[in-house]
Amino acid sequence: MPLRALIDGVEIIAPLLDDAAWEALRRRVADERLPVVLPCCDVEGYLRRSKSGTRHFAHKQKSNCFAKGETLEHLRAKAEIVLACREAGYSASTEVAADNWRADVLATRGNVRIAFEVQWSFLRLDEALRRQRRYSRDSVRGCWFFRRPPKPLQRDGSGAGLLEARHDLPLFHLFASADDSFLVALNEQVYPLRDFVVALLRGEVRFCAMARANTADTLRATFFELACPRCARRCHAYYVDPTQVAGCGLRFQPDSDWYSTDFAFHPALLAAFERYQTSGSGARLHLCGLQRDSSGQVVAFACPYCRAVFDRGVMEMALYGARRFWDDPFAEAFEAVIQRKTALQGAAPHWCYPADGRFCCNNP
Ligand SMILES: [Zn+2]
Ligand SMILES: [Zn+2]
Ligand SMILES: [Zn+2]
Repeated sequence: MPLRALIDGVEIIAPLLDDAAWEALRRRVADERLPVVLPCCDVEGYLRRSKSGTRHFAHKQKSNCFAKGETLEHLRAKAEIVLACREAGYSASTEVAADNWRADVLATRGNVRIAFEVQWSFLRLDEALRRQRRYSRDSVRGCWFFRRPPKPLQRDGSGAGLLEARHDLPLFHLFASADDSFLVALNEQVYPLRDFVVALLRGEVRFCAMARANTADTLRATFFELACPRCARRCHAYYVDPTQVAGCGLRFQPDSDWYSTDFAFHPALLAAFERYQTSGSGARLHLCGLQRDSSGQVVAFACPYCRAVFDRGVMEMALYGARRFWDDPFAEAFEAVIQRKTALQGAAPHWCYPADGRFCCNNP
């Protein structure tokens, strides 16, 4: 269903008119018998309003027009994008067709052209990439909103907005919420479609290959049981979830190592461990000892009975068997706030949309 028509030779984009202007136009078209031409397929059309009130145009005759089969959701999403373009200072046109591509909405400012595609039905990734290349051959930047993002981009166990990000294909997860508005999910947060498109056009969303955490962070240490490889007695060590949250909300694994001074044996964490012990919280646990090097630095957990040092291999084996514990909210755990001079980083390609404008990929 098109949003654009030529009426008496003037281009009209339906969502840019308010109700009064739309009614006035409808009367003029009827009174003066003005021709309404739909540029999507060059046939005659008329003004219409959907049940939900969205102003749009409709084809008068039968036609095979690409814009005809579009759903009401598609129509409403296009209208939202048009309004966002105007808000961001771009002019917008809809159902724009060139030789090798057509765009649901084309935003233009100076010689910058950005095509928005709303993909309400299924589309394969290779087909999206093929269309993207056609846009780029004409110096148009393509941006995609998928209701059902292509399988290859969906990450394992992914929740909302956890798509694999590709620099060559800005593609975001769109869905309709219960109140019929549209939301874009990104990095486990949701944004109204209109706000998100405004942010895109204002350059507030950027591709970053790295993620960067805050310098202050709360780490959670969860206890798990392991058997000493020397004396076979059991004790409890703790595991620190290395997952960090970037300024933009993205959760990622930093390049550093959980079993290192960065995490498990960070002074703040060791102090919290000591508080945990003296508070009596761990009374029902058999806590592992700590192994220190000659300078007094903690370097490993150790058996509290035979003093065997648990090396990396022992820890990894024990953790492998204890995986389910981290998700258990009732598992014995303690927390510590850690301040770092430099923020932890990790390789994590993503579309970065930080609330404070500090992109992960900018230098600190
Ligand atoms: Zn048409
Ligand atoms: Zn032992
Ligand atoms: Zn980011």
